[in-house]
Amino acid sequence: MNIARVLYPVRVLGPGNRIGIWVCGCHRACPGCSNPELWYERPEYEISIDQLMELINTVKKTNDIDGFTITGGEPMNQAGDLSVLVDRLSEISDDILVYSGYRLGELKNQDANTRAVLEKIAVLIDGEYIEEKNNDSRLRGSSNQEIHILNPKFIEKYQQYLDEGHNQIQNFTTVDGIVSVGIHHPSFGGSLWKN
Ligand code: SF4
Repeated sequence: MNIARVLYPVRVLGPGNRIGIWVCGCHRACPGCSNPELWYERPEYEISIDQLMELINTVKKTNDIDGFTITGGEPMNQAGDLSVLVDRLSEISDDILVYSGYRLGELKNQDANTRAVLEKIAVLIDGEYIEEKNNDSRLRGSSNQEIHILNPKFIEKYQQYLDEGHNQIQNFTTVDGIVSVGIHHPSFGGSLWKN
């Protein structure tokens, strides 16, 4: 897969201490996108699912992993690999949240791999980012996006997460510099990478 970064513990993109996975490649070029550096795939970011799982299992040895958040970029553009990855991640936690610029209805009409991803994940947050509709919501980049709890067993967990907290960001120091994770208001400035 083409993956730019994997971070832990991400607490601002879903409940608990999560592993965040940022895929590369997105054709939408939404104005105000937080992650323009992820619009293009890069050969140096190719990683096999086995390598990725090795990394995740290393984190798991000494940490609790409460779930996974997969964003980007456009995760559904790599639906074949994503379907395999989601299977592997489910062995650790089936609380898997995926962001996509596609709407749920569009994804349901795509190929078998895409539909398989939808069947296996807990939550889909769908729709492109519209900067004018960024209202500082928790989890949603803009108010046109919807949170779809696809696995009913997670309804209460996510409702509690949405009810009890407010939108926050979280900074990580990486080899590429400081990466700021979360839903950023358009007024958020600086030269940090935003996610
Ligand atoms: S869909 Fe997401 S990653 Fe792609 S351009 Fe829009 S905001 Fe950026």
